[in-house]
Amino acid sequence: MPENNTPSLSGLARLLNAVLGTDLLQRVRVSRALMAAFVYAMGCLLCEFGLRQWQLPPMGVRLCQLSSVLAASGMYLAVRTGWSLRFVDPSLAVAQIMVAQVAAAMVYAVMSPVRGAMLSLQVMIALFAISSLGLRAQLQMAGNALLVMGLTMVALTELSPQTYAPAMEWTHFTVLLTVLAPVSLLGVQLTTMRARLATQKAALETALDRIQTLVDKDEMTGLLNRRAMRDMAMHHLKLQSRSGDGSVLALIDLDAFKRINDLYGHAVGDDALRLFAQEVCKVLRDTDLVARWGGEEFLILLTATTADQALVAMDRVRDGLMKAEGPPQAPDLRVHFSAGVAEMTPLEPLDKALERAEAALHRAKVLGRNRSELALEPALSEVTAALIKSTRAF
Ligand code: GH3
Ligand code: MG
Ligand code: MG
Repeated sequence: MPENNTPSLSGLARLLNAVLGTDLLQRVRVSRALMAAFVYAMGCLLCEFGLRQWQLPPMGVRLCQLSSVLAASGMYLAVRTGWSLRFVDPSLAVAQIMVAQVAAAMVYAVMSPVRGAMLSLQVMIALFAISSLGLRAQLQMAGNALLVMGLTMVALTELSPQTYAPAMEWTHFTVLLTVLAPVSLLGVQLTTMRARLATQKAALETALDRIQTLVDKDEMTGLLNRRAMRDMAMHHLKLQSRSGDGSVLALIDLDAFKRINDLYGHAVGDDALRLFAQEVCKVLRDTDLVARWGGEEFLILLTATTADQALVAMDRVRDGLMKAEGPPQAPDLRVHFSAGVAEMTPLEPLDKALERAEAALHRAKVLGRNRSELALEPALSEVTAALIKSTRAF
């Protein structure tokens, strides 16, 4: 049984692709054109029925059917072939609605004995306009429906007042006006609601972006915050255990930052922190992770790097900082930093590597600041404990 089902499904999919196309957006447009084509087809059948039932004028019926077939196939081909993509609205909604209004007026004229019922076609077209057009265009289309039907009714009463009695045409016009007015009002309300929802959705998306930034980023410098950096470093450690690439942590503390604040003020201090963040990101590779670890402390994770390369990278940052101009209020201000550099290994917990980096940073401070110090190797006991843990995992 499944063998029979699969080819028939793919056959259906192929047929749908041929009729609607493969692009999702185009499919929606083409299916709308097909929906309109279905209504045209039903209109043709009704006319055919009317021709036999009430001996309607054959010329009028055939003209109405021919126009319907041309309108339906023309609109379908214009959308399906992609020809309509050159227009601002590739679904050709306004054109489709105006052609449909004229066609519905023709059906109204031809189906004289039951023409009152044919007024509902104009209402259906108005609903189509509500679902696909903006506020102004919707109102224009409602006015257009009244104009087309009004002119048709006037012409019919002039040409054949016996069949199309003016009193009856007035009644029909009033009915159409009475129905179209509240339908248009509802359309206006729906469209306004749709616009409000779209604005709210955009505002929510902006808020979500902002929340995401607040969750992951340090607001002042735009760098990763402590929490995000911890998560990423942990993830990186797991990757490292698979790839075998070495990576290095560099814990940085700006030197004598309190003095900078005291001398230039807190605002300049803030600018100096921002400039430091910019300079670090400029000098390091895109693959390196930089975080504000707190206050005037920063943590850098240098990926696929050895400890020696990390020391060179720290010197590059120092050179960059020396060359970079200070904040606008203090262009001569230069920031120095001390760094503790510790190689990471998947066999050592992150916190232990951080402790080693911190100890190395402390040594850099004690040894005179503005320098980088290499951390001691991880303690053998830590490595052994991690090894035991990892063997248990197997
Ligand atoms: P050391 O070389 O020993 O690191 O000296 P230090 O002055 O940098 O160290 P200390 O820890 O005594 O002072 C850190 C200073 O950094 C004090 C604090 O006000 C300042 N600081 C921390 N966060 C910020 C901030 O967001 N903006 C500004 N402007 N200053 C900050
Ligand atoms: Mg500090
Ligand atoms: Mg400091």
